[in-house]
Amino acid sequence: MRRKLVVGNWKMHGSHKGNAELLAGIVGARPFACDVAVCVPFPYLSETAVTLANTDLRWGAQDCSAHEQGAYTGEVSAGMLAEFGCRYAIVGHSERRAYHGESDQVVADKAKAALARGITPIVCVGETLAQRDAGETEAVVKRQLSAVIQKLAHCVGEMVVAYEPVWAIGTGRTATPEQAQAVHAVLRAQLKAATPRADTMVLLYGGSVKPDNAASLFAQADIDGGLIGGAALKAEDFVAICRAA
Ligand code: 13P
Repeated sequence: MRRKLVVGNWKMHGSHKGNAELLAGIVGARPFACDVAVCVPFPYLSETAVTLANTDLRWGAQDCSAHEQGAYTGEVSAGMLAEFGCRYAIVGHSERRAYHGESDQVVADKAKAALARGITPIVCVGETLAQRDAGETEAVVKRQLSAVIQKLAHCVGEMVVAYEPVWAIGTGRTATPEQAQAVHAVLRAQLKAATPRADTMVLLYGGSVKPDNAASLFAQADIDGGLIGGAALKAEDFVAICRAA
């Protein structure tokens, strides 16, 4: 049995005051039957670490550098994140791939850099609407995952994979549970060919997950939880989604 995981991806949202209220709402709603994490903007990591200390809530970053250290202005290394107890780093989010030109190779390098520092990478894959309409969904997600599988080699089983169809992100248009499950099954099969641990790996769905659709998504055989954007910014909604897992 895989334990479900719900991760809030705050993206570039938040403020010192607002975060305190949001985190208090989540902390106050414990216990949860699933694992729960928030991935917050870099400046808020340390206050999040302090707020969530002595709780079973986890926290992470939304990116990390592929490099260990050096002249990379604006980058944050996995080693820095690890220094204060960061558990997860999202890598390869479609917004990073689209707006920052991150290639499959860079995403794979980032996943490797995170794991090297004991941080679990949450590796995002997903097709655009044009790719789905062209019947390329399977090929696209397999290509994206393949680059990471090759790079991580014997550590493949240590990552979390998130399937986030680009057309479902922030659009209010969720993949149906069947559409999401179909892609998750493809990803699980690909992982099975790469690691004996595939059956224990956590595969998240992301893209317009809300309190009213979470349970039906999480009920699918290969969907082990969610990566939540907009609905992670309101404690009430995020808690409701955690309760559905
Ligand atoms: P939304 O839940 O806002 O669609 O965002 C999903 C996402 O991109 C999470 O990483």
